[in-house]
Amino acid sequence: MLPKHWVQIGDVLILPLRQELEPYKHRIAEVYAQVIGVKTVLRKGRIGGEFRETNYEVLYGSDTVTVHVENGIRYKLDVARVMFSPANVKERVRMAKVAKPGELVVDMFAGIGHLSLPMAVHGKARVIAIEKSPYTFQFLVENIELNRVQDRMTAYNIDNRDFPGENIADRILMGYVVTTHEFIPKALSIAKDEAIIHYHNTVPERLMPEEPFRTFREIAREHGYEAEKLNELVIKRYAPGVWHVVVDVRVFKR
Ligand code: SAM
Repeated sequence: MLPKHWVQIGDVLILPLRQELEPYKHRIAEVYAQVIGVKTVLRKGRIGGEFRETNYEVLYGSDTVTVHVENGIRYKLDVARVMFSPANVKERVRMAKVAKPGELVVDMFAGIGHLSLPMAVHGKARVIAIEKSPYTFQFLVENIELNRVQDRMTAYNIDNRDFPGENIADRILMGYVVTTHEFIPKALSIAKDEAIIHYHNTVPERLMPEEPFRTFREIAREHGYEAEKLNELVIKRYAPGVWHVVVDVRVFKR
């Protein structure tokens, strides 16, 4: 009954615990903390809402802020409130490789810089990172400094729909799920006449592999753009029968 799998982010552990273990949860967390050597243990819970915030119960310790190092990037975050998915690691590593020196990347859903820090650090790209949640934004700003990319990464604490830049981006990151399609017109207005968009969304399995690209292309055409699918990857299972998918799309003005 004790958990055999857990997630460690920096020196914070996220433990999935079955309901039957409720009366023993603090004692179990203490043992895991000591054996694994972490300062805090959280109980795995749900991620939700517009800001994709976690709301994990603290079982052991009190400090939920940590620095997680992955692929040479230092990510500071509050694990109890800000999502950091281990299942997205391949995508974070891939983004470090696709970015090109000097190109302008606009990250419309930056979070703490999950995907765009690797592009600025390893890819030497210039990045505009937009994050709406004021709490998450504080970590984004700190992470830009921690990774010493202030010279090429700028952060905005606004709704990306209020971002004023038009026709400026070589590459756009749309790392969001469920309602990402609603933001396609804004992404197209930020994109140069030709650009690459890394479009994430959640898709019911029965609509794959046509979706999510079909909807993207439809909306792009309505806005005077043609869209070409370059690549498609499954990131992870989102819910039973629903997958989180990313499509790399080349868009160009007709
Ligand atoms: N893009 C990262 C990734 O894929 O790993 C972070 C993903 S996180 C699920 C999405 C982030 O987008 C959250 O931090 C949320 O607060 C932010 N967000 C949601 N709606 C937004 C909007 N309209 N404008 C800017 N940021 C937004």
